[in-house]
Amino acid sequence: MKLFSTNNKSNIVDLKEAVLHAYPEDKGLYMPAEINPLSEEFIKNIEQYHFTEIAYIMAQSLIGDYIPGKDLYRIVSQSINFPAPVHFLNQAISTLELFHGPSMAFKDYGARFMAELMSYFLKDENRPTTILVATSGDTGGAVASGFFNVDGIEVIILYPKGKVSPLQEKQLTTWGNNIQAIEVNGVFDDCQRLVKRAFLDGDLKSKFSFSSANSINIARLIPQSFYYAEAYKQIKSQAKKIAFAVPSGNFGNLTAGLLAHKLGIPIHHFIAATNINDTVPQYLQTGIYEPKASVPTISNAMDVGDPSNFVRMQSLFEGSSTWNNLKEVITGFTFDDGLTSNAIKTISKEYNYIADPHGAVGYLGAKAYLSNHPDTHICFLETAHPGKFSDVVETALNKKLALPEKLNVFLSKEKKSIPSNKDFESFKSLLLEM
Ligand SMILES: *Cc1c(COP(=O)(O)O)cnc(C)c1O
Repeated sequence: MKLFSTNNKSNIVDLKEAVLHAYPEDKGLYMPAEINPLSEEFIKNIEQYHFTEIAYIMAQSLIGDYIPGKDLYRIVSQSINFPAPVHFLNQAISTLELFHGPSMAFKDYGARFMAELMSYFLKDENRPTTILVATSGDTGGAVASGFFNVDGIEVIILYPKGKVSPLQEKQLTTWGNNIQAIEVNGVFDDCQRLVKRAFLDGDLKSKFSFSSANSINIARLIPQSFYYAEAYKQIKSQAKKIAFAVPSGNFGNLTAGLLAHKLGIPIHHFIAATNINDTVPQYLQTGIYEPKASVPTISNAMDVGDPSNFVRMQSLFEGSSTWNNLKEVITGFTFDDGLTSNAIKTISKEYNYIADPHGAVGYLGAKAYLSNHPDTHICFLETAHPGKFSDVVETALNKKLALPEKLNVFLSKEKKSIPSNKDFESFKSLLLEM
């Protein structure tokens, strides 16, 4: 498998390089150089395949024989091993539940597949690899769970002190063994800055062999395309035209949907649903991409003002007018916190279903599109279990939620983290002592 950088199409690398060194020096992002469509036969008979088989066939279509079939099957079957069920609210709207993995957010798919792929590529290395990752909440928990006890890999998670929910903090700080957490006295941007500087620092590079697990890594994107096909399989007999409403922040999830579309999964349209951090819906309206500072909302995993995957979306639809090409496939909508909170209430009242604030934004996008396209079935992505955002959901519904056992177990565990100041020298000396 060959990949190019979005900043320079002649900068071509293989998958191992793209996965282990996620960020090209020209500061673009890696994208598959060739996307071979799936066979029509497979798509026609997709109901006959189990999710793991669908994932394997799609992985093979993208990765080719770069990884031998037997190894690729093992990588897929050990990571894509929890279901992605579609729940129908009614004839016109359904939701794809992506929260049945260990950390109960869709990021489990990307993190687990990346962990398997990295340990495959590192199996002959004798030097341990250290994964540095900055998190604003959900990524850290999924990465920790994905890499826990993986041989030859040490994980260091940086998170902003007091800026993640108490449950999210427990999901980052209670692992031990090869997972360590650093509590940075600053905000998420400080954590991200420290990680980026560490990657370039000579002293640290001679002590550690660093790699990155954040969402720019193509290994997180590839597996996210699989569940669009799994959803299509479940909806196919109920609807002629199927669209997906994707609650979006950094736009990795939506880009993965576009990959599934390029692979030939019959997806009629995409709805990019955001909170008031609406850089991409604005672009779809005006043709002008204008990044902004992010604004805090109740769907906080989508508080991104300059989504990094936007350049990947563009690269998939390059042409005489990239803007027109993108508008043909994607419609953008933006919703504020009041509407989101109301949507949680409505979904509960009308369909007896509890959505998390991110899924609720997706639902609003589905409703908005449906009003002009009544012949389309729309599936919105439920990106996290509502229990992960229980304070917001409990306020909207005015009742207590029972926390699922998978999340509950974290609450009684003991937090272990190393405090750090936000200046690079403090952080560096801390790493050198580790
Ligand atoms: C990360 C996240 C999102 C945003 O996904 P992107 O791929 O960044 O657009 C949405 N919902 C939840 C719950 C998340 O954790």
